[in-house]
Amino acid sequence: MPDNFLKRRDIGKLIASVRDAGGRFVAPALAARQAVYKDISSAEELDDDYILPRNSYKELVFPQTEVIADFTIGKDGVGLKGRDVTGRDTVVFGARPCEAASLESLRSVFTWGFIDEFCTKREDRLVVITIACTKADGACFCTTVDLSPKSVTGSDVALSETDAGDYLVHSVSEKGKAFIAKHSDVFKAKPSADAVVKPIIMPERIKGVDLEKIKKFLSDTAHYENPVWPELTRKCIGCGACTYVCPTCHCFDITDEATAYGGKTPFEGERRKNWDACQFDNFTLHASGHNPRDTQFKRWRNRFMCKFNYYPKKFSSKGCVGCGRCIRVCPVRLDITEVMEAISKRP
Ligand code: SF4
Ligand code: SF4
Repeated sequence: MPDNFLKRRDIGKLIASVRDAGGRFVAPALAARQAVYKDISSAEELDDDYILPRNSYKELVFPQTEVIADFTIGKDGVGLKGRDVTGRDTVVFGARPCEAASLESLRSVFTWGFIDEFCTKREDRLVVITIACTKADGACFCTTVDLSPKSVTGSDVALSETDAGDYLVHSVSEKGKAFIAKHSDVFKAKPSADAVVKPIIMPERIKGVDLEKIKKFLSDTAHYENPVWPELTRKCIGCGACTYVCPTCHCFDITDEATAYGGKTPFEGERRKNWDACQFDNFTLHASGHNPRDTQFKRWRNRFMCKFNYYPKKFSSKGCVGCGRCIRVCPVRLDITEVMEAISKRP
């Protein structure tokens, strides 16, 4: 039984309530004719016809670029002053279950030894409201990585859509319960008696994929130079698009940028944290000129290793949640599931 009920017509009231309290309300809405997660201020902006927004909402906790410190260079040396973590209470509405599961993956990395509060403090203030999938496309493969279109991992509140476009509401976390209680004028206590839940679309599990076999193959360092890598991934052009849209990819770089023209003196600037990508040819370039991943297939192999070997060994969270975004955006149609199948068939 659901805990509560949300009428479609009350979403506008929820948006106003969150924003009036100083928070952000982020949901799938159209931009350049594609569904993307973005800040919205009215229910009319919501896109009702999306499968998965083009971008990942990881940028709500891990922005593409942000200033983490300010520096000055003076006669007495270099001064560095860290920035406080910014961010507001944020609600992401209409997230898909695959993506919600990826938040756990980001937290695993950003709390692994060192706590990256730029990420964790934002996540603490994020309420994730998922909607179980009633649509899928050929790129969706959540079931192949042991998730499902109705998984609640990473959700605070999980919704199931009804035929009338309203929602049955399940609170998943304490944060979710508190959110529902705070907005009890919107989340009604009882579902309508005639509420019929839309059927969930379950992507078929890819039969040829065996995650355990993949992990075993990847664990054997003798397979690093296996010809399978150049054979399967030679067409990758290293654009990095797959990593930028991936909800679990988390690589970043730190750069110091002088603010000579905007600052008071030429000797001050900002330290920035920027998204980076293991698919870029200079990602592992050493100052000596040596590059341990000097060809594209090695870079692609690394990304695959990260998802299906390093992550499952180090963390209980998933390296890949089967969202299929990397398949949809890849300009050369390099399909990660084809590589998963090919590796699964190897002895
Ligand atoms: S590797 Fe591809 S399918 Fe897996 S989580 Fe990342 S974008 Fe989604
Ligand atoms: S796999 Fe595709 S999207 Fe990813 S870097 Fe290579 S060409 Fe770009």
